[in-house]
Amino acid sequence: MTQLTFGEMILVSSCTTFIACLIFLICCCYRCLLLCQDRPAWGASATTSSNDHRLDPQVLSSLPIFVYSSMAHEENLECAVCLTEFKEGDKGRLLPGCYHSFHAECADMWLNSHSTCPLCRATVVSETPG
Ligand SMILES: [Zn+2]
Ligand SMILES: [Zn+2]
Repeated sequence: MTQLTFGEMILVSSCTTFIACLIFLICCCYRCLLLCQDRPAWGASATTSSNDHRLDPQVLSSLPIFVYSSMAHEENLECAVCLTEFKEGDKGRLLPGCYHSFHAECADMWLNSHSTCPLCRATVVSETPG
């Protein structure tokens, strides 16, 4: 039987502590990896329903375009996006939900980041099922 000296005992106990720490760290890393693997699926499902801030480009291009004329439309018709009155021959877009009209380019710009009327905040088009 070999008698351990005080120095050897310190060495052995510190080695044991080191190995115990290493096992603990590996367990932590393994748990982290498992959690990380779960995360992408959870994040992906959260991003699927975020398209209600922007009007569907297909819907946008289907909105009716008109050419303003003071004979056919009310006078001093003002675009609520740029706050400028329609001039003879200006192209405008009519929102089918609330019948408000805006310059075509103003409406396009607005509806690129919104899905509601800039004037009355009504939904531009009622959601079609399917
Ligand atoms: Zn405008
Ligand atoms: Zn409106």
